[in-house]
Amino acid sequence: MSLIKKTFKTIDELKKHLKTHAPTFYYSSQTSTVIPYDKIADFFKNKEMTLGDLSQLPCSMELTPTQNLIVKGAISWKDAKDFLRSKKRNIMTSPTEELALISAGAATSATGERCFHFGNLRSQIISLTYLNFDGNEVKLNQDIALKNTSNEVKKYQKDYAQYDIFKNAPFPRLETQTDLMIGTEGQLGIITEIEIKTTDDFPVNHLFILLPKWEVDSKAHLEIINKVQKFRNMVILCELIDANSFEYLPKADRPNKEMDAIFFEIKTQSFNDFYEQFVLNLEYIDQDHVFELAATKFHNIRASIPRAVFEKNSQMGVVKKGTDVQVSVSQFETLLKIYQNFTKLGIKYNLFGHFGDAHLHFNFMPLPNQVELCHEQLELLYGHVLKLNASPFAEHGIGIIKQKYIPAFWNQNTFKVFKQLKDEHDPYKQFFPQGFMSLEDHS
Ligand SMILES: Cc1cc2nc3c(=O)[nH]c(=O)nc-3n(C[C@H](O)[C@H](O)[C@H](O)COP(=O)(O)OP(=O)(O)OC[C@H]3O[C@@H](n4cnc5c(N)ncnc54)[C@H](O)[C@@H]3O)c2cc1C
Repeated sequence: MSLIKKTFKTIDELKKHLKTHAPTFYYSSQTSTVIPYDKIADFFKNKEMTLGDLSQLPCSMELTPTQNLIVKGAISWKDAKDFLRSKKRNIMTSPTEELALISAGAATSATGERCFHFGNLRSQIISLTYLNFDGNEVKLNQDIALKNTSNEVKKYQKDYAQYDIFKNAPFPRLETQTDLMIGTEGQLGIITEIEIKTTDDFPVNHLFILLPKWEVDSKAHLEIINKVQKFRNMVILCELIDANSFEYLPKADRPNKEMDAIFFEIKTQSFNDFYEQFVLNLEYIDQDHVFELAATKFHNIRASIPRAVFEKNSQMGVVKKGTDVQVSVSQFETLLKIYQNFTKLGIKYNLFGHFGDAHLHFNFMPLPNQVELCHEQLELLYGHVLKLNASPFAEHGIGIIKQKYIPAFWNQNTFKVFKQLKDEHDPYKQFFPQGFMSLEDHS
């Protein structure tokens, strides 16, 4: 059994490979936190597999007369942002890891910081093109419903409805044509082109508020999350970085005075209104703990911390033990209580993420001998999430690492639908055959 590596430099090379129907795991920038890239050879050992690198595919960008962005090939979020800014436009989705590719973002149903204001990527994708199992191009449109839906798919759509308020559900949405490729993690085809909506590049200001550590006193956190919901029209993003996370930055770069910090990006035109109507009305916040900061400083801090956390876990030789849970705002206090209990286990931890959307990443930083305990605690957490009807993996997807936790969120019908989709779109089992859609129902 062997692991073959292939880098595709043209679409024709990729089409030729697809026609061989060889089982392949295709990847782009390899920033997924749910694929163990540093141990991938171990994972695929004993299997005939190709690792297909899509990050060198020829790329291009174009702005349509209706101000939509068409990206082809290996374009990252950063490339798109730079291109659009040169045209006084901007992207509406902004994952913290800007080196990830947009095509992979669709495959993982990526979201991110700007989701607070603009909603999820799924709603911004107008159309996309993918290569199917024979290497043929197929175009999908967001405004066309999936046709010939089986009774199983109809039931699946009903099951999805309870998760409508979340960025992503425990299974991909299957309503319109583009849904076939969004969040299905490359298990049904390879995305090569996407048309997405853009926005004006309006000026913004950044400020942050310092507040007590959430483990000790979360009154201020709860006040902010409840009150900020009414300001989604003014606020583009609302992110938390806790005091523990700041320890991964050099001391000189930490603006937090050993406290937690919540960051806001606000439309400049609404800044004064936001200050008067929101900031000055916060009961649990000391007004001396409100600061402005430059956009670049915010983005550096926000991106450095998850990268450093990720690297630290790799250095310790442990696979990341982090969460990606989103709950409703009314359930946020319950989620914080669960995380507060995690802090009593004697394992290092930190908390950061998309606070305004009640979507945080709690990370255990275990020593190798604490990994099993983390795993047990995460199982308990997903049991709670299931009872809350909340979203266990709101943006990073299932990949390989989260597969053990997901079947509890599915029913027999979910497995049936995945099988139908795989049979129809992947008859030779060539697309990521170890992905979540190929899991067996052991219930
Ligand atoms: C520091 C850090 C911060 C992050 N912040 C966010 C965030 O804010 N929001 C968020 O959503 N994610 C975030 N992520 C996770 C990650 O960046 C996203 O999941 C991203 O979409 C992965 O893109 P990639 O190019 O690295 O894809 P890869 O890791 O290369 O691939 C990810 C998956 O997509 C599939 N895939 C890749 N390319 C294609 C294609 N062309 N067609 C079909 N399938 C494909 C692969 O098979 C794989 O299953 C973060 C990760 C890190 C390390």
